Amino acid sequence: MAAPIVVQVVLDKPLVQGFDYLWDAEILGKLPEVGHIVEVPFGRIMAIGVVIKVSTHSEYEINKLKLIKRVAPLPPLDPALLRLMNFASQYYIHSLGETILPTIPQMWRKADDWEKIPKKLAAAEKKQNKKVIIGDGYIGEDQLNPEQKKALKILMRDSSTENAFRAILLQGQTGSGKTAVFLNWLSTTLQDPSAQVLILVPEINLTPQLERRVKAYFPEKTMAVLHSGVSENKRGIAWYEAITGKAQIILGTRLAALTPIPNLRAVVVDEEHDSSYKQQEGTRYSARDLAIWRAHDQLIPILLSSATPSLETWMAAKSGRYEYVRLDQRAQGAGLPKVNLINTRDPQTQFSPGDMGASKQKPLVSKTLANAVTKNLAAKKQCLILINRRGYAPVLSCSACNWLSKCTQCSAYMVLHKAGALGKRSVLSCHHCGLVKSIPSHCPECGNADLKTLGHGTQKLEDAIEEMWPDARVLRVDTDSSRKSKGAEELFQEIHDGNVDIVVGTQMIAKGHDYQNIGLVAVLDADSRLYSADFRAAERLFAQLVQVAGRAGRAGTSGQEGGDIYIETQYPEAAVFQYLLRHDVDGFLAYTASERDEAKLPPFSYQALVHAEAKSLDKAIQFLSELKTRLKNQGLINKELKVYDPVPKAVMRVAGSERAQLVIESANRKLLQEALEIIDQQLRQSSQGRISKTSRIRWLIERDPINI
Ligand code: ADP
Ligand code: ZN
Ligand code: ZN
Repeated sequence: MAAPIVVQVVLDKPLVQGFDYLWDAEILGKLPEVGHIVEVPFGRIMAIGVVIKVSTHSEYEINKLKLIKRVAPLPPLDPALLRLMNFASQYYIHSLGETILPTIPQMWRKADDWEKIPKKLAAAEKKQNKKVIIGDGYIGEDQLNPEQKKALKILMRDSSTENAFRAILLQGQTGSGKTAVFLNWLSTTLQDPSAQVLILVPEINLTPQLERRVKAYFPEKTMAVLHSGVSENKRGIAWYEAITGKAQIILGTRLAALTPIPNLRAVVVDEEHDSSYKQQEGTRYSARDLAIWRAHDQLIPILLSSATPSLETWMAAKSGRYEYVRLDQRAQGAGLPKVNLINTRDPQTQFSPGDMGASKQKPLVSKTLANAVTKNLAAKKQCLILINRRGYAPVLSCSACNWLSKCTQCSAYMVLHKAGALGKRSVLSCHHCGLVKSIPSHCPECGNADLKTLGHGTQKLEDAIEEMWPDARVLRVDTDSSRKSKGAEELFQEIHDGNVDIVVGTQMIAKGHDYQNIGLVAVLDADSRLYSADFRAAERLFAQLVQVAGRAGRAGTSGQEGGDIYIETQYPEAAVFQYLLRHDVDGFLAYTASERDEAKLPPFSYQALVHAEAKSLDKAIQFLSELKTRLKNQGLINKELKVYDPVPKAVMRVAGSERAQLVIESANRKLLQEALEIIDQQLRQSSQGRISKTSRIRWLIERDPINI
């Protein structure tokens, strides 16, 4: 009798080990390969898993092993992808199965549908031919400006020496033509008809316009678009086109970084600094970091593009670890926007009671800004007014007893949304747990009927703006308005088409969009994002403000003004604003680097979090305190490895659970890794999955957290 074929399979479970199964080549019609996606019996149910080992023996009794039931009609996941998954699993302290399986689209995780998929694909193929994306924005190599040409030349320099890892930072202000440069760069790679490239973007909203541009460069190539906004069906097909090599261009958000791309030859990470690259649930990976690892492992080039690089990337480029390519002028020659700081503490900038043009309510914009808006409208330019809070008002309050609209499930306030935003009527909504309630007519505490809103969000601002400029066409853009009737794309189109004079919205409008007629951009609540417990707050705010500034005067031609930016703040002297005033990205990054160095914060050290979630905060804190004590007793805490005291999270209670965290920090990456592995092992021993057996605490380890 021939030797049995034993395969080891990992499943989507927080279990470290894989499971052995028998492979019957006669039934399955083929021999096993590492990377095959299979259906297996697991307990009383059937589960989907991935083969990670093929052998002829098992530590278990062979005749007790169960049989693999089915194999997916797919090529096996390629060895490079499995290496990446292995790395991610180790580095982010998640089991291999939990790391791989969630990256496989739903379509391929339903074994009963496997047989039907070919039909589905054929149908999709037919449909696809009908839907033609019109390419737009092609700028060929000869059309590049001298600066872009120089950048492209540097990028091409090494393309002869294939099979080499290169990491390149392409830094240039918004509108400097980075996209045009990297698309020209990719076109050389794509001359090889079998080559595949990966382009990562931080947000779904940015994919349609980049899709059009990519299409303009590569009209003949198949492009697979992968992000969470793509339907399950389409995502399954796009993933299939990537794994089979049919798609040569894989464009997507962070989840695309883990797509099987067997002939991957180059990677671009656009807006590499963006925090959306960090996955905030499940395996909490950074898609940018994984993309860099992948390029390094596969000996291919990776280009990181940004106007405001992350401190990590910028320092790597400065020190020569990455190549550094810069574009310092705006591609179409427009000047930089002029930044104006409005000191809201200065009475001169504010309306006085009875001033002409002031809104009847407490004015929501300063007099200085209002005058600028009026002037800009008269010049037939569009205005963009940003406030980083959606809804009408962040909290409802009772003026008699100080009752506030707290969420019953979270330690957060419920936000007032006016009629039409989330429902037919006005509602209170919690942005943390999603709880929606109708608005009380009386104070639930004291019965007072005089309930007032505190603060303001996009909706209230929209009302105030409409009142102040009754003739202007006002459009609100935030996730509420884009979810309703029209999608975000259509709202953006309204702006492009010039059907709008004033746009009120959250930062969602500020990212990447190439509006041509914006003369003024204003940011109203900049301070609220500056003073937060998170040490990255200023870095993030700076990047956002530069991004916002990039929306103004993009299309201006040589010598023309680049538009005006107005920032309302109580602290105009803060470093982040002062560097912005001078458009000094490098100055700001150097300043931030020295601050971090002094405090030994990332990137001068590495951090990890242990999260704990329980019915009560006390329990969560106690769980983490015990963990800390154990680590201390084991001699793991020392000069090189610092463990802070457990603290409640910024939003402590969410959906009825209370949450705490423990920060672990070391300048030595390896030491931190070892400590985390020990913690993981110890916690696992006393847990079922990731829930501790005794106190029912849900715990999770996170590497390189970006929100502390
Ligand atoms: P970035 O990616 O740095 O924001 P883009 O590549 O999107 O810059 O370019 C900004 C704008 O300038 C786009 O509208 C683009 O079509 C245009 N553009 C880029 N390069 C050139 C060029 N060489 N000549 C004319 N227009 C250009
Ligand atoms: Zn009251
Ligand atoms: Zn809530």
